[in-house]
Amino acid sequence: MRAEILAVGTELLLGQIVNTNAQYLSRGLAELGIDVYYQTVVGDNKERLIQAIDIARGRADLLVFTGGLGPTLDDLTRDALAEYLGRGIELHEPTMAKIVNMFAGRGGAFVESNRRQALLVEGAAPLRNDTGLAVGNALAVDGTCYLLLPGPPREMKPMFDNDGSTWLKDQLGPAKTLHSAMLKFAGIGESGLEDLLIDLIREQQDPTIAPYAKEGEVAIRVSTKASDAEEAARKLEGTLTAIRGRTLAHLYAEEDVPIEATIVRTLTEQQRTLTLAESCTGGLVSELVTTIPGSAVVFLGGVVTYSNKMKMSQLGVPVELLEGPGAPGAISAETAAAMAEGMRAVADSDFAVSITGNAGPAAAEDKPVGLVYVGLAERGRETRVEKLQLSGDREGIRLRAAKRALYLLWLSLTGRG
Ligand code: ATP
Ligand code: MG
Repeated sequence: MRAEILAVGTELLLGQIVNTNAQYLSRGLAELGIDVYYQTVVGDNKERLIQAIDIARGRADLLVFTGGLGPTLDDLTRDALAEYLGRGIELHEPTMAKIVNMFAGRGGAFVESNRRQALLVEGAAPLRNDTGLAVGNALAVDGTCYLLLPGPPREMKPMFDNDGSTWLKDQLGPAKTLHSAMLKFAGIGESGLEDLLIDLIREQQDPTIAPYAKEGEVAIRVSTKASDAEEAARKLEGTLTAIRGRTLAHLYAEEDVPIEATIVRTLTEQQRTLTLAESCTGGLVSELVTTIPGSAVVFLGGVVTYSNKMKMSQLGVPVELLEGPGAPGAISAETAAAMAEGMRAVADSDFAVSITGNAGPAAAEDKPVGLVYVGLAERGRETRVEKLQLSGDREGIRLRAAKRALYLLWLSLTGRG
């Protein structure tokens, strides 16, 4: 619910009094979980008051008035609202009786103008005034709520805290809590993802869309307030469908899990197996995969080969690729492919992923820091290699290379690449 506070009184505009009621109400409304978008101050003038009501109604669904409920002719709030809504005015008998009694008790003559304090906009619920005479008004018309409170703080505060908040809570319905969906993406950075979703992010209201970036992965949280999970699902669905449609090649999970968890799950479902041949990541991909419970079923194992000799003896990489003039070298597409194929052949796995590159800090084989090749050998398919030029320090390059390798595997595993 979005609220606007309308403080009514020429004294406020003249600077004769400070608008402390607005502060009190803003704080009270926030405590009820109601967002206050505007505070307006308007003088004791019916025409301008009606104008202010019309503007507020266009941008808020709760209008809280303070001031102008008293007995004198400059107290116009109730009349202005009745006129704006095309409603009549009715007498609240209990308040009238209270006023008459009070005057009788004091022995003073009842002044007719005091009757005004017992008036309600037609159809409004009365709000008890324990510290004064003017009755408060609460009404909901065509989806907009109106709360009319007196100006004097000693009357306004208890009225708002008692009948006022009770009525507002009724309007709000059962308490709403925040529900979120978490979407996880790989193979794309935060800004790339934002580009794909820019109009959705710009126009977001409810649900809200918030991107998060961690090293090597990006997440989006889509949130809404709802009374239960079903209502939340209904409210989230449109936004989720739109995001899914645009991010097919990157959206790997709809819960907060790393991509290796999705890979282990998918391999398990498909009853396929994985092996790894790592050079510059030194076993990092194996570490990530084996962190996932159940990975032992699908991950057959891997080797870490740094020296050319190990690449040849463990993976069968041909010497011509590694040594001699004109050889592409250890950091090359050819070697990445040979490592993946060699690994797959040795273990007879369905997939083998290889990584070879230079994580820095110094150039190796005349290859620049951050140059990494990822190989993917798959049973029954041609081996693929991706060349990466990564930036960052040694640790960052290693993690990004590992995550990229997992991303390529996921693409292949899910028929996306
Ligand atoms: P009354 O019965 O006293 O006429 P009312 O509901 O008509 O009450 P106003 O006439 O607008 O209210 O204001 C009465 C007094 O209440 C002001 O003189 C001022 O002292 C105080 N008051 C009104 N509005 C505010 C405000 N926004 N913040 C703080 N005090 C206020
Ligand atoms: Mg007054």
